[in-house]
Amino acid sequence: MLQPVSVGTKSLADYTHLAGRPLIQEIRDLAEPLEGLRVLHLSATAFGGGVAEILYTLVPLMNDVGVDAQWEVMLGREEFYNVTKRLHNALQGNPDSLSDEEWKIFERYNALNATEISGGWDVIIVHDPQPIGVRRHVPDKARTWVWRCHIDLSTPNPDAIEHLVPLVREYDASVWHVPAYVPPSLDGPAAGVTICPPAIDPLSPKNMALSPEDAAFVCDQFGIDVDRPLMCQVSRFDPWKDPMGVIDAYRLVKQEMPEVQLALVGSMATDDPEGWEFFNSTMAYADGDPDIHILNNLNSVGAIEVNAFQSQADVVIQKSTREGFGLTVSEALWKGRPFIGGDVGGIPLQVQDGQTGFLVSSPAECADRSLRILREPDLGKQLGRAGKEHVRKHFLTPRLLRDWLRLFQAHR
Ligand code: UDP
Repeated sequence: MLQPVSVGTKSLADYTHLAGRPLIQEIRDLAEPLEGLRVLHLSATAFGGGVAEILYTLVPLMNDVGVDAQWEVMLGREEFYNVTKRLHNALQGNPDSLSDEEWKIFERYNALNATEISGGWDVIIVHDPQPIGVRRHVPDKARTWVWRCHIDLSTPNPDAIEHLVPLVREYDASVWHVPAYVPPSLDGPAAGVTICPPAIDPLSPKNMALSPEDAAFVCDQFGIDVDRPLMCQVSRFDPWKDPMGVIDAYRLVKQEMPEVQLALVGSMATDDPEGWEFFNSTMAYADGDPDIHILNNLNSVGAIEVNAFQSQADVVIQKSTREGFGLTVSEALWKGRPFIGGDVGGIPLQVQDGQTGFLVSSPAECADRSLRILREPDLGKQLGRAGKEHVRKHFLTPRLLRDWLRLFQAHR
């Protein structure tokens, strides 16, 4: 059997004061005729990374409005995760794709998981490439199959995308963060392509309002001097997130502002075998600098701690060189923090350069914008406030729920 994920309950009504009454009413109207719709979300992991983050809120909210939604995690072993990690990298542009042997492993685990899915679903939503191959083995297990892509497919490895597109075609619909990620070979009127960026939960422990005193208290326990400026990036230890570029930027800032500190906060996903290796190289790159704090979930960095670091930081950074969407971007903006992000993938969707934050393409630019923010607190305040309103309008979970309900309606 696949592993069911227990998500607890949430109430849409609690979001009214943050998302606004008209949107909540629109959701209720859309949900009414969908009462009892059986929806299965299938993903590769329930821990770490953006997909899990989204589903922990989206699934209970779907249930709250009357949809019968469940979430199950596929079965896999290390050999499969090694392959899917390489596939993920190839799809995001790595020159190295999978060998025939690796494609066979990918296919074998997908076939195995397909037989484990129960039947009778109205909709099965398959998240990301890891389980994409299940559908062809058991098309009758759902009336409608949707593939939800969470990664940046704008410049994929040709071999990897050639393998992927025929699999996507078999789905009734596919959902993408931005139009640029839809492979040209998939495009066309019949492809069922839907554009819908993800969203964050403003009431989760990670994003709920935390007082400056509480945020300082938590950061202090991790050795941060809360009276000195802090730069921070929260992300998995992954080369695409460029933590070493962040260290380079911090070092440039430190030349001008010796009191500055850096926190790199990153968790290890269960399906990410490369993570540890990269974590160790990042540690080595920091070279024992006592003002660089590298923390992971083994130091008990959970949701509240991420919240505290994002709330406390004077500059929050996401210096990715590829980024499907970057939930951490909306998370930081929602806390009203001045933000600097790599000008890639889903980040420009959330950050309008100079208005709701800054977009950068190099450590030097990142250092320059950091110094501006650290030296001009009013500028930081203004960016932070505008960023928060942008997120309120576009990137909170009720909007995402509405978009899913619209899609369900369209495929009834
Ligand atoms: N995250 C976390 N702890 C960490 C690092 C990341 O909780 O130590 C969370 C982060 O706050 C965000 C998610 O993991 O909610 C990462 O999503 P994002 O879209 O930014 O990147 P992904 O990991 O999916 O590439």
